[in-house]
Amino acid sequence: MTRYIFITGGVVSSLGKGLMAASLAALLQARGFRVRIRKFDPYLNVDPGTMSPYQHGEVYVTDDGAETDLDLGHYERFTGVSARQSDNVTQGRVYQTIIQRERRGDYLGATVQVIPHVTDEIKAFALADTDDLDFVLCEIGGTVGDIESLPFMEAIRQLHNDLDRGQSIFVHVTLVPYIAAAGELKTKPTQRSVRDLTSLGIQPDILLCRCEHPLPDSERQKIALFCNVRPEAVIPALDARSIYAVPHQYHAEGLDEEVLRAFGIKDAPAPQLARWDDIMDRQQNPEGEVTIGVVGKYVGLLDAYKSLYEALSHGGLANRVKVKVKWIDAELFEKGDDIIASLEPMHGILVPGGFGVRGSEGKIASVKFARERNVPFFGICLGMQMACIEGARNTAGIAQASTTEFGETSEPVVGLITEWMSTEGLQKRTADTDLGGTMRLGAYPAKLTGNSVVAGIYGTNDISERHRHRYEVNAGYRDRLEKGGLIFSGMSPDGTLPEIVERPDHPWFVGVQFHPELKSKPFDPHPLFASFIEAAVKQSRLV
Ligand code: GLN
Repeated sequence: MTRYIFITGGVVSSLGKGLMAASLAALLQARGFRVRIRKFDPYLNVDPGTMSPYQHGEVYVTDDGAETDLDLGHYERFTGVSARQSDNVTQGRVYQTIIQRERRGDYLGATVQVIPHVTDEIKAFALADTDDLDFVLCEIGGTVGDIESLPFMEAIRQLHNDLDRGQSIFVHVTLVPYIAAAGELKTKPTQRSVRDLTSLGIQPDILLCRCEHPLPDSERQKIALFCNVRPEAVIPALDARSIYAVPHQYHAEGLDEEVLRAFGIKDAPAPQLARWDDIMDRQQNPEGEVTIGVVGKYVGLLDAYKSLYEALSHGGLANRVKVKVKWIDAELFEKGDDIIASLEPMHGILVPGGFGVRGSEGKIASVKFARERNVPFFGICLGMQMACIEGARNTAGIAQASTTEFGETSEPVVGLITEWMSTEGLQKRTADTDLGGTMRLGAYPAKLTGNSVVAGIYGTNDISERHRHRYEVNAGYRDRLEKGGLIFSGMSPDGTLPEIVERPDHPWFVGVQFHPELKSKPFDPHPLFASFIEAAVKQSRLV
């Protein structure tokens, strides 16, 4: 039997529901259960793909090509279970499906309504593809009381009724703020938000109370009494030292125990937490430190580079070093900031994915600095494209090299991809195609050259990595770029699309068209990140 855990949030947003869901899933998995986590996003975009990273943080891409919420990245990093398109649905997608169906005439004359049509669609989403699982955790985005989340709340209320008794529970994440002037933790916001929830017909089974100070027993009792839960089911969730300390911490507070109890499961094995012990040991006892300069555009909001930051830290775990990330706004180099003073202290330079011309000359200048100074360089997606343009301009004599993304150019070293093969067959695009969901998205295989640096790093010549881009390095420039020392060491299996470039004569210089950061996990750091940080450690001994 698949059991369902519905996770809601109250009082304020940004309580870390995603991290909580991921940590609970990790704890259940550590007890031998098969888990999957899903996210319901109440906004009206069909997916977050067209939203600015400043609005919504990173867009997390799945193997099957879905552009999803960044919480799905947490889910994968904590459980190792690859997320799928069916693990993230927005209200926009729900309505899109229903309206398309209505236009086809599928409702046979019925009036289409929020209840039952929208709620049925949400329920179908929650239940789909869950046969092989013990637990499905469904996180509802937003905060109780939001107008937008009402259909989702109603759908989970109904589902709780539709399912067998004991087959689903509700976990509510709230905030217990500390009022410094009174020196007290306050429970009223939690009481209010549970009242909001019960007015929607949902009685939480477990309350996870985020707090900055330990929750005194008296307050725990009070919350239990007013919110109609057992005191043991009021779980304090203090801020953790590190996100990877959260599973241990929640276990110590009894969260997984309470969840099992709420389901009436008595004979579950104790959790095997050695994986998390090892991660914490590596994180708490580093043997060194490196500084990586990330030269990008969205440096004002760290959520915009969530997976990248995590993958760099995983590279640190692999090498037992602390990774300090210096976020550098590429545009500042165009406005006269001293590139040498900024980049000289870095043990590695990374140019991440991005869109648009703003800051691109600063990124190209950073590639040049890394190349000339023999500083480890990692270019990801747009970063690889910038490395190719830099190589074309400065090592292949193609002074006008550019990308058609930035406007018309006589030397399109990077250009719009108009055709490529996917698992669904030949894909075709033009400059007029809609922007939403039309990039080259999801996992694609690549073939690596046998004796290349990257084949050595991966330990194989056949890889599969996740993509999200509209432009591509133009293979027609391959010979000229290779003469300048920039080797095309990974290609699509049909040999048409460059996937990886490297400079074998440089200590560590790799550009990849895909996003390796999306597949890195703390217990299984991505080989490119592990190798890049290893190179940065060597660099740190030189400077
Ligand atoms: N803007 C570039 C493209 O669309 C790179 C995208 C990215 O870095 N994800 O190809």
